[in-house]
Amino acid sequence: MHKLFIRFLGQTSPQPMSIEIERAEGIYMYSPCGKRYIDLISGVSVSNVGHSNPKVIEAVTSQAKKYMHLMVYGEMIQSPQVDIAKKIAGYLPAGIDSVYLVNSGSEAIEGALKLAKRHTHRTELISCKNAYHGSTHGALSIMGSETFKSAYRPLLPNVRQIVFNCFDSLQDITTATAAVVVEPVQGEAGFIVADKNWLIALREKCDEVEALLIFDEIQTGFGRTGSMFALQALGVAPDIICMAKAMGGGMPIGGFAARAEVMVKLTYNPVLGHITTFGGHPVSAAAGVAAMEYMEEHKLLEQVKSKNELFVSRLKSCVGVKEIRHLGLMIALDFHDQELRDRVVKRVVERGIITEGFLFCDTAMRIAPPLTITEEEINLCCDIIIEVTQNIN
Ligand code: PLP
Repeated sequence: MHKLFIRFLGQTSPQPMSIEIERAEGIYMYSPCGKRYIDLISGVSVSNVGHSNPKVIEAVTSQAKKYMHLMVYGEMIQSPQVDIAKKIAGYLPAGIDSVYLVNSGSEAIEGALKLAKRHTHRTELISCKNAYHGSTHGALSIMGSETFKSAYRPLLPNVRQIVFNCFDSLQDITTATAAVVVEPVQGEAGFIVADKNWLIALREKCDEVEALLIFDEIQTGFGRTGSMFALQALGVAPDIICMAKAMGGGMPIGGFAARAEVMVKLTYNPVLGHITTFGGHPVSAAAGVAAMEYMEEHKLLEQVKSKNELFVSRLKSCVGVKEIRHLGLMIALDFHDQELRDRVVKRVVERGIITEGFLFCDTAMRIAPPLTITEEEINLCCDIIIEVTQNIN
């Protein structure tokens, strides 16, 4: 299977994880030979309600039996799409209740950028250094790392980067700016949490120059930080919220939400402001509703704080760590150097725990398990990680 994987699948890097998984359940993944792995990264912030969640499976099978694809997004009335949009709107700041459904995080960002241009009649887009917003051309244009961008230039014009959490940088936002895109917790930079006061100042600056503020909640959304969206904990309301990843409980779906009077700009003159065939696929939408209901029924959000505290207090015993950055179940163990981090990650994976690094942070290890992880399982993971760091030399 490994040979066929290399032979027939386009490869993203010369060093894929290359672990074959036959089935997955809860926080566990199983290889064909029966080796059990604990998923400590949730397929990168996707499996918040655990792998093959029974409520999600039930929703998927029942919706698939009724209908799958009917028509391109936005034409026919499909109840799973209406249900998920209504449910999400219930968790968003008052007035942000129009959700445009798409397929992925990158597509949500594309839609949001287009909407900002249409609403403001401006073209300048501002993002942050070390930001990751996706890999399609628009999302790539606002990525905060030249390494991944330069091979694709020319990209979108009028894009500039400010420094995350830097007050002085806010002066770069002007009346030429259509939108500022920011992650409430910078994911690929190694889980850097936004300073609340900086977000408040950013909101004020955007209001002053009438630019839209876009929150990329693609990684932070759906309970990852302890509230359905991180914006609730940070107390700042943006104009557009992008979401995906955990939104479908393991199925592919994304969306961007805005006030109806903003979203309506995609509806007229010209019509069809963002066309997406599979956007809001009904099976994914039904899965997403089930995942949110599961979180509510099992009070998963309420448990995130104590699970975070257990992880952080235990991981303080790790050797070689210079900093633990965290919000909810986004925890970055930042080591003194890359070489040490790489050895720890390799050894931890060998010991049956799936973890990895970050795109723009060479020294940190990612811990973002399904929110369903139990205290006992957290202790087991911490025992292994601590032991690995203590015996790495
Ligand atoms: N934005 C953030 C913060 C992400 O972490 C990601 C994916 O990792 C994306 C956008 C892009 O999402 P997708 O991979 O679904 O296109």
